[in-house]
Amino acid sequence: MSTKQFDVVVIGGGPGGYIAAIRAAQLGFATACIDEWKNDKGGPAPGGTCTNVGCIPSKALLQSSEHFDHANHHFAEHGISVGKVEIDVAKMVGRKDTVVKQNNDGILYLFKKNKVAFFHGRGSFVAAKDGGYEIKVAGAAEEVIAAKHVILATGSSARALPGTPFDEERVLSNDGALRIGAVPKKLGVIGSGVIGLEMGSVWRRLGAEVTILEAMPAFLGAADEAVAKEAAKVFAKQGLKIELGVKVGAIKTSKSGVKIDWTNAKGEAQVLDCDRLIVSIGRVPNTTGLNPEAVGLKLDERGAIVVDGDCRTNLPNVWAVGDVVRGPMLAHKAEEEGVAVAERIAGQHGHVNFDTIPWVIYTSPEIAWVGQTEQALKASGRAYKAGQFPFLANGRARALGDTTGFVKFLADAKTDEILGVHIIGPMASELISEAVVAMEFKASAEDIARICHAHPSLSEATKEAALAVDKRTLNF
Ligand SMILES: Cc1cc2nc3c(=O)[nH]c(=O)nc-3n(C[C@H](O)[C@H](O)[C@H](O)COP(=O)(O)OP(=O)(O)OC[C@H]3O[C@@H](n4cnc5c(N)ncnc54)[C@H](O)[C@@H]3O)c2cc1C
Repeated sequence: MSTKQFDVVVIGGGPGGYIAAIRAAQLGFATACIDEWKNDKGGPAPGGTCTNVGCIPSKALLQSSEHFDHANHHFAEHGISVGKVEIDVAKMVGRKDTVVKQNNDGILYLFKKNKVAFFHGRGSFVAAKDGGYEIKVAGAAEEVIAAKHVILATGSSARALPGTPFDEERVLSNDGALRIGAVPKKLGVIGSGVIGLEMGSVWRRLGAEVTILEAMPAFLGAADEAVAKEAAKVFAKQGLKIELGVKVGAIKTSKSGVKIDWTNAKGEAQVLDCDRLIVSIGRVPNTTGLNPEAVGLKLDERGAIVVDGDCRTNLPNVWAVGDVVRGPMLAHKAEEEGVAVAERIAGQHGHVNFDTIPWVIYTSPEIAWVGQTEQALKASGRAYKAGQFPFLANGRARALGDTTGFVKFLADAKTDEILGVHIIGPMASELISEAVVAMEFKASAEDIARICHAHPSLSEATKEAALAVDKRTLNF
């Protein structure tokens, strides 16, 4: 049987890989995508971490738990009484699984529509041959396919604590955290990054007593300090216990729970007993299954694939995108790189602007930002102006009953160019897009201040924050 030959083979069907494959096919290349993720029945489940155990299922559970929280705590102020509110966790998790499956099926449909050949199994390099590459697909059957160009998009996996592997029963990665079958009485979380905060929020809203242990002395170090301070205040009010500057010691699991020895910032020995423990201390790139040695693919000391600014590896016509390379581990960053690489293969000028990649934390309130923080601007010595506007003074936020937080603008002191926008508050994930567009077009704060924003809308707070950069206001 002759080897199937493709112009482009993508290994990994997460947001980096499946988007790259679709774009390559749209550009006229004979394209294949190999992905090994299996659903409960052993069938294909393309979409990677994002679709199966990341962005999509976490947002489904956040939505369910937010409804529960609203019914419990906020309906009454609207004059709505609902009696005793109960949560059917199995149903909530089942709904989440349905949302995931709809996304898996959507990707398979898009592959078909765009004529991307899909292979279910593990892809690994066999050898470089005839100016291209041979790739083994190990699935239900084994076969070797060949490609002129290869795009690696194998993603990342949760990092375990040394000596404490994930058993997904008591010690949970993001995977187990999204499949807990009943609300734990006490939940421990190690790591107060995005995943720890989102997962902690879901189970806190449903009634768990949640303690988050964080090694760093500062909370949300990557966010603007004003936002991080506000977030710490609000999360504490919601009952999330967050301990900073801790050292985690021995972790013992038993049938009934997990016992964690830890030391607080003052150096005092502490013990946390919980029913389950989520470990969210970062992610490691997936490269072991690729057989990189067969072709001499260069990895860095973390096991990530080494690429240049255009996602080129050290091998001719081999590219890598998404979580498996440097840069923020975000689905939309992976997607942008996937599109850019497909276009570069076609001789076009694919482009990713790392300065305008938005960050979002889907807690309540949501947190979103783009560009530089105030502390980074101070450290770099760049002269800047700042403007801030609270949702407390925004009519739509009052009508929604959610006036937490603010919008903050940072602009160059001389040119007024927007350097960073930071939002904590309702629908921050949606509001941040305006700032991303503005920064992509190198807009000034005054540009935003002079654009008509619908009334009443949360986006008026964005306009007001832009006005505040020049110490002006229309509504305050
Ligand atoms: C709980 C959680 C919540 C998150 N929420 C968000 C969010 O809200 N927004 C956001 O932007 N990001 C979020 N992320 C991060 C996001 O999921 C990742 O940045 C994104 O999935 C990376 O995409 P990728 O294509 O690089 O890799 P992945 O999505 O990891 O996909 C890689 C795929 O390749 C497959 N694979 C690996 N090796 C092989 C091989 N040798 N052969 C065949 N297949 C292989 C894997 O099975 C997987 O299907 C979240 C992550 C987690 C864990």
